Amino acid sequence: MAKSNNPSVSSKVQLGEVVVLRLDGLDSLVARLTALGFETKGPVVRDGAVVPGPITGVADLPVGVHDEQAPGSYRLTRGDDGRLFDWAVGPGSWKAEFFPPSQEVWRAVKVGDSMQFTESAPLAPLAIVGARPCETAALDVLDRVLKDGAHRDPVYADRREGAFVAVVECATPASTCFCSSMGTGPGIEGGFDLALTEIDDARGHRFVVRAGSDAGVEVLSVLAHEEALDEDLEARGRVLDQAAARMGRQLQTEGLASLLARNVEHPRWADVAERCLSCANCTLVCPTCFCSDVRDTSDLDGTLERRRVWSSCFDLEHSYLHGGAVRTSASSRYRQWMTHKLSTWWDQFDTSGCVGCGRCIAWCPVGIDITEEAAFIAASDGATPANAVSKASAP
Ligand code: SF4
Ligand code: SF4
Repeated sequence: MAKSNNPSVSSKVQLGEVVVLRLDGLDSLVARLTALGFETKGPVVRDGAVVPGPITGVADLPVGVHDEQAPGSYRLTRGDDGRLFDWAVGPGSWKAEFFPPSQEVWRAVKVGDSMQFTESAPLAPLAIVGARPCETAALDVLDRVLKDGAHRDPVYADRREGAFVAVVECATPASTCFCSSMGTGPGIEGGFDLALTEIDDARGHRFVVRAGSDAGVEVLSVLAHEEALDEDLEARGRVLDQAAARMGRQLQTEGLASLLARNVEHPRWADVAERCLSCANCTLVCPTCFCSDVRDTSDLDGTLERRRVWSSCFDLEHSYLHGGAVRTSASSRYRQWMTHKLSTWWDQFDTSGCVGCGRCIAWCPVGIDITEEAAFIAASDGATPANAVSKASAP
């Protein structure tokens, strides 16, 4: 509940209570998490993109950085506004922190006539400051596969269960974003330790903050914060309304799973294969793709290593069964990827495999757009294969 005044205080915050942090409070949040033993990470600019990286304070965040995204296109611009979170998600997702692209499974060294196995050193617990709502939704999706499913991955589960997540709601979605359609943004109502909304208006540059867990309450309570005013809550509402209105794309989700299930022979799959390079970029940037492969290596010094590495349904070998690969065409591989995301994921995990982050659109080198492909098939549903393309093109 908002109060009528806002002295700066450090006092016990209640679960769900809304308070205000200033920039120095955000600095203190990062310092506090690090002091508690977390490996603290947040969005940083590296190689011309906003990606997850280590942070020690506000100065490490993308200060004044903005982005322009479109199908097959991503670039950063810089302003002098000092805002920290005025960009949409970049190519790196938080998935890699819990499910690394290359991870040691075991390692062994030859000692005399026997092999000595070694275990990897445990990682420090992870604190994230600045995940976006669609990214925590993606982690929830991954949890169903790697933590709560029939085949629990102990490394993923331990890191996930020990993590602290401070989300920052989205103010400036990219033209490639469609989280509103998927119910995963631009705001967030649960599944976080802290949720922040960046506001910069006549009352200054600040963050409206909610605690969503006991861990969030503990951390927030020791930071110098202000009680939230009605103006702060109204400002947050405006930020989210404007973000939803600026959402670059939409995906019609009602009936989508069954639409794709009954259109596995649609001529559009062959059409998209004419453009698709089978490069696998879309699966590598996707925050919910979880396919992996196992690689063994040996060294002349007697060291053996087994690693788990990301794989992709666009890799020909990925569908290798007895006698060969079963998805030999680009059309079958793209169809597998898209129908799994939007249709059969529901059968397996009771959720969509897409959270609407738009990464696969921006990072596809030829600009293939999952929302456009789904809309095309929807528009021509029921048409005969011969006239499906012309019907879908009609206004
Ligand atoms: S399929 Fe594309 S839009 Fe959906 S979660 Fe994956 S990368 Fe994001
Ligand atoms: S859809 Fe785009 S990103 Fe995905 S494999 Fe094809 S060309 Fe690569």
